[in-house]
Amino acid sequence: MTIAVIIPAAGTGSRFGGELPKQFHPLAGKPLVQHVIERFLLDENVSRVIVPVAEMLLASVKNSERVVWVAGGETRQQSVIRGLAETRDADLIAIHDAARPLFSEATFHAVVAAARETGAALPVVPVTDTIHLMSNEATIVETLDRSMLAAAQTPQCFRADVLRDVLVRAQLEGIEGTDEAGLAARFGYTVKAVPGDPRNLKITVPEDLVIAESYLRQWSEM
Ligand code: C5P
Repeated sequence: MTIAVIIPAAGTGSRFGGELPKQFHPLAGKPLVQHVIERFLLDENVSRVIVPVAEMLLASVKNSERVVWVAGGETRQQSVIRGLAETRDADLIAIHDAARPLFSEATFHAVVAAARETGAALPVVPVTDTIHLMSNEATIVETLDRSMLAAAQTPQCFRADVLRDVLVRAQLEGIEGTDEAGLAARFGYTVKAVPGDPRNLKITVPEDLVIAESYLRQWSEM
């Protein structure tokens, strides 16, 4: 079994602020995206890690045997599609946010095992806040049943044929998703959820880095 991993890292990270997109921000001495790449390379089933980045950054990175940098697209989905072109004949394709440096190998193994069985899988965590559907006037339209909700994390994993089909259909129908698991479900595939980890947070605002750094310290002391 071979797994290609796509790490979309071409976002501007506008919510994070600053000169540097968040995925290149240092965490414990190296860029967030580097933490992510290195953790995937530990798995010998990972044949390639493909990283779509802003085109202007391509000059400052170097491909290696297992790490390939490509130009990203206008949206996360377009960046993933650019990455897909480099996945060669991998059996499975995993997709992971560059801004989630704290995923565990256990989570990765769990989504890979589930995707081998059902074709598509993702890690989820329960929603702890109450979520309201809001109107344009900032008033509550409806309160959603929290017990029916789950927050999606990455890495998400797909059989290669499933992911290709889903992304081609999304393109043809002009649908932009915020994750691939949601698109797969929309097109009728069974998408299996495995337990995620609240520590696998997506670095979105500078305060998240402080939390990530403390988790990372706990990990290295374990
Ligand atoms: O914006 P959001 O945090 O949902 O982005 C998720 C991931 O998608 C980030 O790692 C970001 O760098 C990536 N992305 C991308 N190309 C874009 C926009 C976002 O690779 N055009």
